[in-house]
Amino acid sequence: LQMELMNAEKYQVIGQMAASISHEIRNPLTTAKGFLQLMGKKGLNEETRERYREYAAEGINHANAIISDYLNYAKPTREPQQPIDIRAELDGLMPWVMPLSTMADVEVRIQHMKDGPLMMLGEPKKFQQCMLNILKNAIESMPTGGTMTVMTWTEGGKLCIQVSDTGVGMSEEQLRQIGKPFFTTKEAGTGLGMLVVIQLVQLMSGTIRYKSKLGQGTVCDIRFKRYEPVRLERTS
Ligand code: ADP
Ligand code: MG
Repeated sequence: LQMELMNAEKYQVIGQMAASISHEIRNPLTTAKGFLQLMGKKGLNEETRERYREYAAEGINHANAIISDYLNYAKPTREPQQPIDIRAELDGLMPWVMPLSTMADVEVRIQHMKDGPLMMLGEPKKFQQCMLNILKNAIESMPTGGTMTVMTWTEGGKLCIQVSDTGVGMSEEQLRQIGKPFFTTKEAGTGLGMLVVIQLVQLMSGTIRYKSKLGQGTVCDIRFKRYEPVRLERTS
């Protein structure tokens, strides 16, 4: 019974979040619809029509950004945990990351300190959503280019992932606010990415720390419990 009460509380928070997220998605879509309707007016000059088209596209892009930052979080249930290889998962994300880094003139370095799989118990989709949000933030912190380094290693019973960037960095005040719903310093930001990251890391019993220096860059350190399958030996 105690378990159920705790879950009910959790779902209530999730329900509230879902309501405010729908609102955040609906606003830019309503704007986009408005500008699309305006575009249908007769006698508009080319310049005005083009401006309306841009506003409409901006609205749709913003709604899309909210959906992608929030993507798998919409199903925040605790699904059965399965062994996942974080090396393979990170490599599998690169086709999504590369177009973004290339556009931003960011060099991506990946260093796995250990050969072979790095296993943890978790959910592939949630892990990917976490890492994608963190990697996107790192790239977005370097609007004029730079280097993003992703390192993995093991330390005792832990799997460690570090994402560092040579970007704009964060002030103490910003660091304190990171993960607060809708906190963003970006013109087209959603302020939802880190909220999702923190919740998903917790759901998979991991830890996350940020270190940052304004004008120098940011280091994100994520740790999960390492999964070591028990080898069953037959004795008969
Ligand atoms: P968004 O990316 O939409 O702004 P997030 O929740 O992903 O929302 O991030 C919130 C804020 O945290 C960002 O707007 C930015 O100010 C700060 N931030 C997160 N990661 C970094 C980073 N690697 N470097 C600098 N600032 C960061
Ligand atoms: Mg983000």
